[in-house]
Order: sequence, then C-alpha cells, then structure tokens
Amino acid sequence: MRVRAQMSMLFHLDKCIGCHTCSVACKNLWTDRKGAEYMWWNNVETRPGTGYPTGWEDQEHYKGGWWRDDKGKVHLKIQNQPMGLARLFFNPALPQLDDYYDPFTYRYSDLFTSPQGDQQPTARPISMITGDEMEITSGPNWDDDLGGSGTYARNDLSLDGVDPEIRQQMEEIERVVFNYLPRICNHCLNPSCVAACPAAAIYKRAEDGVVLVHEDKCRAWRMCVAACPYKKVYYNWSSGKSEKCILCFPRMETGQAPACAHSCVGRIRYMGVLLYDADRIEAVVHSPDDELLDTQMDAILDPFDPRVIAEAKAAGIGDDWIDSAQRSPAWKFVKEWGLALPLHPEYRTAAMMFYIPPLSPVMSTIENNLARLDIGTDEHDFELFDQLDKARLPLKYLANLFSIGDEEVITKILRKMLAVRLFKRRQSVEGFVDEATLAALEAAGTTPEEAEAIYRLTTLPTMDERFVLPPYHREMSIESLNDPLVHKGQVGVGYLTPPTRGA
Ligand code: SF4
Ligand code: SF4
Repeated sequence: MRVRAQMSMLFHLDKCIGCHTCSVACKNLWTDRKGAEYMWWNNVETRPGTGYPTGWEDQEHYKGGWWRDDKGKVHLKIQNQPMGLARLFFNPALPQLDDYYDPFTYRYSDLFTSPQGDQQPTARPISMITGDEMEITSGPNWDDDLGGSGTYARNDLSLDGVDPEIRQQMEEIERVVFNYLPRICNHCLNPSCVAACPAAAIYKRAEDGVVLVHEDKCRAWRMCVAACPYKKVYYNWSSGKSEKCILCFPRMETGQAPACAHSCVGRIRYMGVLLYDADRIEAVVHSPDDELLDTQMDAILDPFDPRVIAEAKAAGIGDDWIDSAQRSPAWKFVKEWGLALPLHPEYRTAAMMFYIPPLSPVMSTIENNLARLDIGTDEHDFELFDQLDKARLPLKYLANLFSIGDEEVITKILRKMLAVRLFKRRQSVEGFVDEATLAALEAAGTTPEEAEAIYRLTTLPTMDERFVLPPYHREMSIESLNDPLVHKGQVGVGYLTPPTRGA
C-alpha cells in the first residue's frame, strides 16, 4: 500500500441553481487575460446539452482519455507511437475556436459617440480576438436553461440508450427538464493530459494531487488539450502555452477554498482530502468497464483504518492531513455514505472530483405521478421507490454520465437520498418517525443516524464543514515525501514527468 493524499471537490447537483457565479469568480481571478478570453476553467452546463466546448464527450471525434484493448492493455486514444509523431505537427482531434466560441465584448464607446438620432444607440458586439464586428452565434452557456430550444439537448450523447418514448417525452415542451453540471479539471489519478505531453511539462503534485502545467517547459504541442477527455486544458494563443485549472492552489495553501467553491451561491461545493492507494491505480486503469467504478472507489482508503494511518505516516503524510482526511466531506459523501460518483469514469483517467446525482427533478416527477394516482407521499414510502424509474430525468441518462450506464448504481444513490427526505419530512412535519419510514430507510441501506448526518451536511453545513482544508507546509519539499516513485522521477501510472514544485 502506498498512501497518497488528493484534494477533492464534491458537487451536490441538487443544489446548483445555474447562476454561473463560480465561472465568473474563476474568470476574474485566472483567465481575464490576453489569449485566455475564450477559456472557462470552470464552466456550468445545462444538461441534457452538448456542453463546452461543443460535444466534448464525443471521444470518437476528440480522442480524449484512454482505451483498453482486448488483451487488457490500456492506450491513450490520441496517439499510438507512429501516430503520435505525425500528430505533433497536425492534430485533427484538437478542438477549434468555433468549438469553444469566438469570445466577444461590446463596443461600449458607440453609446457615447453615436450621432444624435431618433433611435437609442446600441453597442455592437466585437470579437475579442480580431476586434472586428461580429454576429454572436454561440457561447459557453449558449444553451443555458435549454435556451428555448431542444436542439442542443437532443444532441447530448449521454441520451444514448434512453428509451425513445422517454426521449420524445423529454423533448415535449411541458416535459422539458434539465439540470446543471458545473465542471472543472478533475485532477485525475491517471491524467491523460500528463501522459500525452511530449515535453513532460504537465505533472501531478505529489503532496495534494493538483495537476499543473510547468509553463517554462511547455512547447505548445497541445497534446494535453486533445488528450484530456473533459477538455479542461486550454491553449493560450497569445503566450503560446497551455493553461488549466490549478484548483486555486495558492488559495488552498493559505487556507482558502478555491474561488469557484468559495463564491458558490448554491453552496453545492465541498472540499476535502481523500487518501488513496497509489499501488491500486494500475488495477483501476486496467479494469474492464464493468469493474472500473468499483476499483476506483476501492482505491480510496479509509482514513480511520489504523493500517492506512500507519502507511500514510510512513509515506510522509502528516497528522494534520490525516485529521483533515477524517473530517473530509469528500470522504463522507463519496465513501462513507456512497452518494457521489466521478464524471464519466469510462474515460479511465480516474477523475477525482465527485458528483452527487440530482434527485430534484426525480422527486417532483414522482410526487406528480403519485398525486395523479391519488397516492399520498406520506403514507406510501415504498411506492416512491417504485416510481424512481419513471423519473423525468431518466436514470439511464444519469447512469451514462456517472456510472458507465449502470442504472443500478444511480438507483441505489437516489433511493438513499429519497429515504433521507422522507425521514426528515416525517420528523419535521409530523413530529415523529413511524415504522414505515424506518423500514424505508433500512430498505435504502441507511439508518436514522446516517440520514441525520447526510441531511445536516447537505443543508446546514458551516463554512468549516464544507471546506476542510489541511494546513500546507511549504517548507516541506516534495523530495522529502517518502515515495519511491518520486525518487525514480515518476509519480504514478502513466506519468511521464518528474515532479516539480508548484509554479
Ligand atoms: Fe488532465 Fe484529468 Fe484535468 Fe483533463 S480532467 S486536464 S485529463 S487532470
Ligand atoms: Fe451552481 Fe454554485 Fe456555480 Fe451557481 S456558483 S452555478 S450554484 S456551482
């Protein structure tokens, strides 16, 4: 066992209101610069939808992530040996500016300098790259709230396999349903961006797992941009360097949550340490699809296990980090309560940001269905469970996003969340919890104590409970971590780069 620490962000999707405050906070802090205008290190997508850049999940086209061959070997989708060399000079898998959008501003001076006339002057949109006048035809959140059209939603690849009848119902205007999906770099355990870089300019920090670009080493090959299946590395056309989300490491090192999380209006974001076993990454990466999710979850270690604590200390992880891992909301939601999943685990990068699938649209549909059937939600807890597969946002769709199509995984999570709601509703509305509700909790694999803890951390967390940030010891060099791979110049499966101190 080789214990490592990873800073992980958790997104509670039920709570996201799609306000984009996170995106703007990130933009103001990190990408409000020349060459970075089109970059949104944090973006929020309306789903179903095609996202940003458009259709980023289409790996047949973009060739991001890894694939496993018949013999169980794993390869980067972007390059095998001969192709890799050819693609140094022309890479058809790279997204074009149009796939992101042509960044624009407005010529505000028009408002002041227009000649007097009968009409109010308007500020014309102009390209932030060329300065020319332009017609705005797309943007990173162009299909926000479905934008009044089902066109983008209809093209969402994660709708594959959803019952055609349900798909059709989803597109009918009164059934239009969507959720928000905030996205940042996943600071993966097996990052394809790192493995694809011919200049060894991207690396994963040993102390907290943050994936960074060493800009002095970056030679603008842009393999990272193509290789990241989440399209979370961007090329700065002005500086000629790749850039990406840095998980606000300068903020974390001074005890502050990343800007997107700190500013989040819906308080959907949580931050904490996860301990994982680096020796198991190889097994994760090589697992067949139907075992991939389980092996990734198994690689995350119990921070209360005495053996894990001993191995963590032997690996140079301090008591304060172990304490943080024990109080981590990421640990609680992901492993202790089993409510959160990585986005698209089939990309095999072992993403380390986690999502709690949304129940809200499910819940409202279920309640409507029950009302139509004249079944009161209070009396028939188990009928609620039976209605999950009639949810407006289909289980298959959520499964395609978070569990490689396995609906059972999503059903289990939603049942537990539903049971917690029933439990709290009984408690607060009726003032007591009856046998039927306790049975519903048990059937969902939870207990009154756990339900209370889930409710508490979901609805009433203090800032200190949402963001459990360990103290950083900048006096400690990475080389001082007792990790044999660090001394061999590698930091994990598929990593090509020697570890370097943060920029
Ligand atoms: Fe690299 Fe993963 Fe981040 Fe993509 S999401 S840039 S593969 S670490
Ligand atoms: Fe969602 Fe929070 Fe971002 Fe608003 S700030 S869009 S609630 S993640």
